[in-house]
This record gives sequence, C-alpha cells and structure tokens, in this order.
Amino acid sequence: MTKRLFSFEFFPPQTPEGAEKLAATRQQLATLKPEFFSVTFGAGGSTQDRTLETIRQIKAEGYNAAPHLSCVGSTCDNIRIMLNTYRDMGIKRIVALRGDLPSGMASIGEFQYANELVSFMRAETGNHFHIEVAAYPEFHPQARSAQDDILNFKRKIDAGADSAITQYFFNAESYFRFVDACRKLGVTVPIVPGIMPIVKFAQLARFSDACGAEIPRWLRKTLEGLGDDNAAVQAFGLDVVTGLCEKLLAGGAPGLHFYTLNHAGPSMEIWKRLGL
Ligand SMILES: Cc1cc2nc3c(=O)[nH]c(=O)nc-3n(C[C@H](O)[C@H](O)[C@H](O)COP(=O)(O)OP(=O)(O)OC[C@H]3O[C@@H](n4cnc5c(N)ncnc54)[C@H](O)[C@@H]3O)c2cc1C
Repeated sequence: MTKRLFSFEFFPPQTPEGAEKLAATRQQLATLKPEFFSVTFGAGGSTQDRTLETIRQIKAEGYNAAPHLSCVGSTCDNIRIMLNTYRDMGIKRIVALRGDLPSGMASIGEFQYANELVSFMRAETGNHFHIEVAAYPEFHPQARSAQDDILNFKRKIDAGADSAITQYFFNAESYFRFVDACRKLGVTVPIVPGIMPIVKFAQLARFSDACGAEIPRWLRKTLEGLGDDNAAVQAFGLDVVTGLCEKLLAGGAPGLHFYTLNHAGPSMEIWKRLGL
C-alpha cells in the first residue's frame, strides 16, 4: 500500500503571543509525524514576511515546511526572489496558488492564473520543488462551469504540479466525483482532501460563503440549532468530520490535509478517532 500523506496548515500569526501559541500547536501536532506543515500566504504579498518567518521557524524545529505562494498582484522578479529564498533555505515543497486580488489592489500583476505560476516555477527551478496546487471538488466560485474548472485544474497539472490539496467540503461524494472526472481526463496525481474541523458555526459559515464551500442544509440547520452552545457544536462537528474522513480514506483518498486555524485540539481528536 502506498504511504498516505497527512499534513497540517497554519496561517502566519500576527503577534508574538500568536507565534508562541502556534509553536505550542506545532509541538503537539508534530507528535503525529505529519508529512509537512504548510503556511498560508496573503494574496498580494500581505503576509510575505510573516509567512517566511513562520516557515523559517518550522524548518529550524526540524520539520518539513511548505510555504503557500500566491501570484496574483505579483511580478516575475518578486516570485523569483521568493523561490530563490525558499530554495536556499532548503524548502522542497510549495503550495502554488493564484490567490484573490485584495480589494484596493489595482493591478493583477504578471500572472493571471495559477497554471502560469506553476510553469514559471518549473522554468526557474526545474524539479527542485514538489509543487502542490489547489483543487475544488465543489468547483471554484469563479469557474464558468464544472467542466471548465476541471480542465483548468488539469492545466495546472500539465504545467508540472505534482499533487493537489482540495478546498474543504462536507460531502464525500463531491470529492469522489471530482477525482473520477480528473482520472478520466488522464490526471493521475494524488488529490488530497482538505479537512476543516468544525469549531464555531459563525466562523465556518463566513469562510464557506467566501470560498464557495458548501455546508449541506442538514449540517447548517443542525449547527444553527445548536446556537452558542460551543461544546455541543464541537462534539457534533467532531462526529461529522470524523465520519467524513473515514469515508474518504475508505474510498481511497491518498491522505488528509487539515486546516487547523492554528489549533491542535480538533485535528488531534479526529486523528485519534480515526486510529491513524
Ligand atoms: C489548499 C488551498 C490552499 C490555499 N491557500 C491560500 C493561501 O495561502 N493564500 C491565499 O490567498 N489563498 C489561498 N487559497 C485560496 C485560493 O487562492 C483561491 O481559491 C483563489 O481564488 C484561486 O486560487 P487557485 O490557485 O485555485 O487559482 P486558479 O487555479 O488560477 O483558478 C482560479 C479560477 O480561474 C479559473 N482558471 C484557472 N486557469 C484558467 C485559465 N488558464 N483560463 C481561464 N480560467 C482559468 C479557474 O477555473 C478558477 O475559477 C487556498 C486554496 C486552497 C484550496
């Protein structure tokens, strides 16, 4: 059986206290021996220094670190500098994204779509980096059609991406259907499901509206009904997300990537329940 890939995602903290908390989170999650920790990157370069600093810390602690890198609003020169910095630091894996143009930022920059970033990375750094790209089992909100989105996803793989991490979702069927459609087009790379533990309904609803991830009606209604009872939301959320992960792994998913929001607890509990 091929080795399954497990990984955890963080955002770069804004304060020294946040950085300290994240270091503690990492220490806990490291005991699970994940393949890598990834760190998000604010589109338009808004978190460039903090992403780099967090990556530096993860590397210094001896773990595999994978920076996210988004190209929207950027230039070839700027991306080249970041790639060289990461290569010199010994980074081997990058999550390559388009990102979303921050409001108020006028210029789209020199890259329009993530496939262009992947091509640029291959041209500049050959096979040095393992390139991850984003996938959307429920389709990207700006996609003209489902088919179009899948073809655009394939474009990133054809440009040289090695594997993909999905947007989170709560319906296992949408993942399996998406993977099937990709396989029919000859896409063979691992497509690892992104997993969002459910901690607070209001926060989840806000994220989902922004990124186009669907909260099924039965789930939304149940979570709404639990209101501010955070303990009940978390208990129910753990059952739902553990069930989802079980289905995904049983159906052949090549691993799991957890959106931790810098908390260890929920991901660790799911991990424990899965018996990983
Ligand atoms: C695992 C994961 C990690 C993420 N991390 C971050 C992060 O750290 N920072 C951040 O800002 N955002 C992050 N995002 C969000 C992501 O940046 C947004 O979803 C963004 O809107 C799209 O980025 P992309 O790389 O998927 O873009 P693309 O693959 O470029 O796709 C964007 C849209 O354009 C369409 N499209 C793509 N190529 C073409 C083409 N050649 N011609 C016409 N249409 C095309 C696609 O169908 C899609 O609708 C992440 C998302 C995921 C799933």
